Amino acid sequence: DTLDFDKEVESICPFCGVGCQVSLKVKGDKVVYAEGINGPANEGRLCVKGRFGFDYINHPHRLTKPLIRKEGAEKGLNVDPANPLTHFREATWDEALDVAAKGLTRLRDDHGGEAVAGFGSAKCTNEEAYLFQKFIRQGFVHNNVDHCTRLCHASSVVALLENVGSGAVTATFNEIENADVAIVIGSNPIENHPVAATYFKQFTQRGGKLIVMDPRGVGMGRFAAHRLQFKPGADVSMLNAIMHVIAEEGLQDDAYIAEHTENWDAMREHLKAFTPEAMEEVCGIPADELRAAARTFANGKNGMIFWGMGVSQHVHGTDNSRCLIALALMTGNVGRPGTGLHPLRGQNNVQGASDAGLIPMFYPDYKSVKDEGVQALYRDVWGVDELNPNPGLTVVEIMDAVYDRKIKGMYILGENPAMSDPDVNHVREALRRMEFLVSQDIFVTETACYADVILPAAALAEKTGTTSNTNRQVQMCRPAVPPPGEAMEDWQITTELAKRMGMGWTYDHPSQIFAEMELVMPSLANISWDRLEKQNAVTYPSLSPEDPGQAVVFGDKFPRAGGRARFAPASIIPPAETPDEDFPMVLTTGRQLEHWHTGSMTRRATVLDAIEPEANCSMNPKTLRDMGVQPGDMVRLTTRRGTIDVMARADYAVAENMVFLPFAYVEAAANLLTNPALDPYGKIAEMKFCAVKVEVP
Ligand code: SF4
Repeated sequence: DTLDFDKEVESICPFCGVGCQVSLKVKGDKVVYAEGINGPANEGRLCVKGRFGFDYINHPHRLTKPLIRKEGAEKGLNVDPANPLTHFREATWDEALDVAAKGLTRLRDDHGGEAVAGFGSAKCTNEEAYLFQKFIRQGFVHNNVDHCTRLCHASSVVALLENVGSGAVTATFNEIENADVAIVIGSNPIENHPVAATYFKQFTQRGGKLIVMDPRGVGMGRFAAHRLQFKPGADVSMLNAIMHVIAEEGLQDDAYIAEHTENWDAMREHLKAFTPEAMEEVCGIPADELRAAARTFANGKNGMIFWGMGVSQHVHGTDNSRCLIALALMTGNVGRPGTGLHPLRGQNNVQGASDAGLIPMFYPDYKSVKDEGVQALYRDVWGVDELNPNPGLTVVEIMDAVYDRKIKGMYILGENPAMSDPDVNHVREALRRMEFLVSQDIFVTETACYADVILPAAALAEKTGTTSNTNRQVQMCRPAVPPPGEAMEDWQITTELAKRMGMGWTYDHPSQIFAEMELVMPSLANISWDRLEKQNAVTYPSLSPEDPGQAVVFGDKFPRAGGRARFAPASIIPPAETPDEDFPMVLTTGRQLEHWHTGSMTRRATVLDAIEPEANCSMNPKTLRDMGVQPGDMVRLTTRRGTIDVMARADYAVAENMVFLPFAYVEAAANLLTNPALDPYGKIAEMKFCAVKVEVP
């Protein structure tokens, strides 16, 4: 009887950056069924999360009323989300908003605007992300506002902005249809971008040559012409060796290099030292395999490169991306159908939230906060006298400043740093020390356990707004069901807070926010709210009101001074923490198919939780045998930052010196173990590599 429904509403899957369009079937006030529809990214397809991961919407843990911490109630992970009234009391919206606004205002007035920071969310709509950064920049006159992009593709975006001139993908992933060779590196799309993976598989079925590069022998490897299971952290040595072969054998595209790039001579000189023979020991791939993969990619007519967190979450994440950009440029693989650079985005709206300015160094559309002309535009559009020209702190830096009591209060919307940030023991202590925290979410998350005020928000299926997926496709989300109880949409809550802080906001529909965004964001040219309501999706850039948008960009010139892309040579930087006698193995973290990020939604989705109910790690069967551990037994993982006990699984895809640990499980939180060391450019933490000891508990 799940097929029995009263109405169907077209919206967007709330999970990964593929941004599948979905039809939600509603009976009464419940979503009872989900079906893929013909969106530009998914063409009717859905993965298990999109198909079955919706009933968290109706979970009894949903917040239905604002909550205020009881006098003297201890902060910490001691709140049962099923019964938060042990530590909080229910409040009216009026009271909760007053307490929240006064608490943040008091810190600003007593200590200056820098005493307050904000984390927005890639789970929210573009309009909500835009409003959130405006709230911090206008209300506190500084730029300490960031979101999960910092832990996702921040390093990729730095490299892309630096060398291509734009942080977004140069081609949609669906362009693989026109490619004959593709690289997937540091990414396991079968689990993390499952619908995109179906296009990749079809590409190989048509004869396309896939080159999979990953320290884990991950799923796409089954379809690969070349499978390079390199040593963890050795990306730069391997990629430089591949580029060395291309340059040495003259396989580069000289005409493209001459017409579209700069700094090739320095790059070619730099590559000379990276012979496959010198690099095979460093990266763990035999020289002849490096040569073969290089020839396959360079000899392809049209090539694409896809990458994930395995590339970005390193202290050398920016250098990893610089290498991938250089590889695409030297082979002339940007700007034509079937070519391009595509960092696969994580959260469903991480592209849109970044475009909308939820970043400490940029206003919307990646305009520098330092630029006086840009500041003048925002002073004019926002009607304010003063904006701060200094880039703000990033996610990990903000939490360090909270720990040091320099930042005294935060407004956290839809993010869960008590689970998602590296070294969460440190983060949880920072949250405990904070003088005043406003948490806005759909559940009492681990982070909300530390809040002074919790504001109940709507889930995506209860909202009106737009999101932008990994393909640069701006898509319309519509409310299928009303929010539970008194919960409100995030833009409404932020607007009410701003009003109480005297910021003069008058928004009463997301379309008004979108109209303001159109004034300041050239990327939204020709993409009106009305158009999105009619068409559901438009890819940016769109060149006219009739243009569905450009799937491939930069065929003519790059958006850099002089119109050329740039080669940025990268040298080998080792991981921040390498295995030693005390911690002899390598720990890497990631997602698994059924669970989304910190698990707050998918572990409350009946089907997904039934498939994957238990915290687990994966190790090579030989490693487990050597330890006398059976699959299903518990192991103890210890790093310099923490210890967890977790169930072990056998997986040949994991190298013998490695442990793979998903990060969705609070009872064995992976980020208790991870290293907060940062890439110096993207300020992204090295969550893909640290030294670990594995024991039998
Ligand atoms: Fe949702 Fe991503 Fe799965 Fe599509 S591929 S249904 S967007 S989780």
